[in-house]
Formats: sequence, structure tokens, C-alpha cells
Amino acid sequence: MTTSSHLANHTQRQTVNLKLNDTDGLEKGLTDSVLMMRTESAPNTLDAVVQWGRKNSLWPYPFGTACCAIEFMASVSSIHDQSRFGAELVRFSPRQADMMIVAGTINHKMVPVLKRVYEQMCEPRYVISMGACACSGGFYDNYTTLQGIDMIIPVDVYVAGCPPRPEAVLEAIIKLQDKMQNSKATLVPSQTPQE
Ligand code: SF4
Repeated sequence: MTTSSHLANHTQRQTVNLKLNDTDGLEKGLTDSVLMMRTESAPNTLDAVVQWGRKNSLWPYPFGTACCAIEFMASVSSIHDQSRFGAELVRFSPRQADMMIVAGTINHKMVPVLKRVYEQMCEPRYVISMGACACSGGFYDNYTTLQGIDMIIPVDVYVAGCPPRPEAVLEAIIKLQDKMQNSKATLVPSQTPQE
């Protein structure tokens, strides 16, 4: 073997070693970060991994009925970049989503629709109530408007404002992720109605 080919082989080996070390580092870092997330609610590694995966891969379903929905669109735009939190893959089928964002006024005629869509979502499912209208009816204090979606479906995080800013939506997602991190990670069987 000539000196130049020996050097070439050496450099190649170094490159391979470097790549292997990088991969090892990534795996170790990943394992460390998942293990560090073990809590009372997720005492073993499997629970911690399930929680970690769930909270970092939320699939949003926007139930947008009014102006708040426009603000939600801003939160997924490149400026605010909701994808930084693993929740950018907006779906328009409830069967492909696990985080509903109710953005806008809900009137009584829409109640059965909202309930049906919620029930069709994957489990475990989460709800963010965005804006004054969804949280409490807002200034529509009248006989046509539902005075808060928590009268018909469970809400995990409420976002105040009329409309809330996109940053507030991002904060709601972070709060929801915290809540998921601290809740029991169980594998819930699907109860999605076959309709
Ligand atoms: S809270 Fe305000 S911005 Fe949001 S839907 Fe109601 S009126 Fe529109």
C-alpha cells in the first residue's frame, strides 16, 4: 500500500468513525432526554417514550367558525412557525387528528356537529378553546350562541382574547404539552364511532 492510499484509507476510516460517533451521540442524547422526562406519571421508559412521542407530534384539527380561525392560520404561518412544536400538520379529517382547536363562535345549531367531530377524533384527544367566543360565548350573550364549548366537550386549555394573538396559541400548545407530560401515559383503545 502506498503512502497516499494509506492516508486516503485513514481519512476514510476517520470519516466513518466520526459518523458513527455522531450517531452514537444522537442516540445517547435522545435516550438521555427521554429518560430525563420520566416522572411520577411515567415511571418507566415505555411510558416516558409514549408521552414524549405524543406531545411532540400533535395533529391539529381546526374547528374554525369565525375571525379567530384567521388568527390560527397566522400561528401556522412561516412567521410564527407552529411546526417548531411538532404541531404543524393540520388535518381536516377528525380521524387523523388528536388536538382540536375550536376557533370562533359556536351557535346552538352547531352543537351536534362539534360533538360529532370531537367523538370522531383519535384518542387520546385534546381540545384548545381559542378566544372569548369559544371559551364563553364572548360578547354574543344571546339565545343563539353557546356560552362556552366546555358545556358540551371537555377543554384542556383556554386561550383568552378577541382574538388571541398567534403567540397565545403557541403558548396554549406548550401548556397542553406540559399537561400531557404530567398525565398518565396509557394506551387508550379507540372508541371512534364507525360512521
Ligand atoms: S373571540 Fe373575537 S375574534 Fe374570536 S371569533 Fe369571537 S369575535 Fe371573532
